[in-house]
Amino acid sequence: MWRYGHGMRISDVIRRKGDEVVTLRSDATVLRLLEVLEEHHIGAVVVSDDDSTVSGIVSERDVVRHLHTEGVAVLEQTVAVIMTRDVHTCAPDDDIEDLAQVMTDRRFRHVPVVSHGALVAIVSIGDVVKGRIDDLKTERDHLVGYIQQ
Ligand code: AMP
Repeated sequence: MWRYGHGMRISDVIRRKGDEVVTLRSDATVLRLLEVLEEHHIGAVVVSDDDSTVSGIVSERDVVRHLHTEGVAVLEQTVAVIMTRDVHTCAPDDDIEDLAQVMTDRRFRHVPVVSHGALVAIVSIGDVVKGRIDDLKTERDHLVGYIQQ
C-alpha cells in the first residue's frame, strides 16, 4: 500500500538506471580518463585496481583544476595523482533524500554505491534528482486519486 512520505532508496534508483560502473585502474593516464569520459558520456570514473575496491574517484572537475595549476603535462600523469582518495560512498539501503543533502552540502555529483565492501553501482546527482521527481509525481497521483474518491 502507498504511504505518505514513503522514502525512495538508492536501490530504487539503481533498479531504474542500472548498475553499470565505469572504472579505471590507478595507473591509467589522465588522457585515457578523458577518452573514457567522452566514450561513456559521463562526468566521473571510479578508480579501482580490482573492479571492486574503491581506491578513489576522479571527475572532469579534477582534470580542469589540474590543467589550470599544472598545465597540459597533467595529461601524461596517472589518475592516481589527481583523484580524490577520501571517497564518500553510500549503501543500497540508504535514503535518496539523505544522499541529495550530502551531495549538495559537499558539492560532488557522483557517489559510488558499495555493498559489503564491493562496488555495486554509482549514482549521479542527475539520477537522484530524477528519482525525487518520480517520487513526487507518484505521491501527487496518489493524493489526487485520494481526493477524487
Ligand atoms: P563531481 O561533482 O563529481 O564532478 O566532483 C567534484 C569534486 O569532488 C572532484 O574533486 C571529485 O574528485 C570529488 N568527488 C566526486 N565524487 C566524490 C565522492 N563521492 N566522494 C568524495 N569526493 C568526490
